Amino acid sequence: MERIRFLGCGSAFNPLLGNTSAYFIMEDSLVLIDAGETVFSKLYKMKLLESCPEIFIIITHTHSDHVGSLPSIISYTYYVLGKRVNIFYPEKSLAVLLDMMGIVREAYVLSVDRDFCIGSVAVHALSVKHEENIGCYGYLLEFPDAKIYYSGDSYEIPDRVIKGFLAGEIKKIYQDTTEYETERLSHCPLSMLESLFPVQMRKNIYCMHFSNDFMKKLEEKGFNYVKVEET
Ligand SMILES: [Zn+2]
Repeated sequence: MERIRFLGCGSAFNPLLGNTSAYFIMEDSLVLIDAGETVFSKLYKMKLLESCPEIFIIITHTHSDHVGSLPSIISYTYYVLGKRVNIFYPEKSLAVLLDMMGIVREAYVLSVDRDFCIGSVAVHALSVKHEENIGCYGYLLEFPDAKIYYSGDSYEIPDRVIKGFLAGEIKKIYQDTTEYETERLSHCPLSMLESLFPVQMRKNIYCMHFSNDFMKKLEEKGFNYVKVEET
């Protein structure tokens, strides 16, 4: 079974929980999903960049709590460790952002494909709604033994993900969740998850990207939530 771990589960304004970022190790490769401001120091402490010969980074969107560590990770890996990280984000604008931060293009490999494979995992980028001015993507990850969905930041869940999960084809959903519904949405309100998913299926929905502590409420309603391993 796929084994996804978390370096952080907080929102942009809750840095003490660490920026929401997931990773898994596969055949000695590190696969990281998002690289917010707090992520480089975590990776550095855990020596994950050193210990994995190949590094793949999937980016959901370019808010700084999701890409703020990217320049340091690229520079450190290239200049200190002598490796190039492989980055996946469906828009070339990421290279322009990195240009502005002084990151030379030969220091990393950027793929803008929406469908790609990392080893035995097939990955599909799905366009999702979060903020109007930047492209945001959720990712379907098809491991050999399970298909999962990782939302990035989003206030919607794509139809194919909802249907796939209800049909049992998608085993887990990792979803950006906010406790309360607001007039202007940018994250998925808990009430929306409650209306979409029956109680008996909620244990396979892992909420993440917390602005505040409402874990007890999530548990009461049958949802799961991501936990960060101590380093
Ligand atoms: Zn965001």
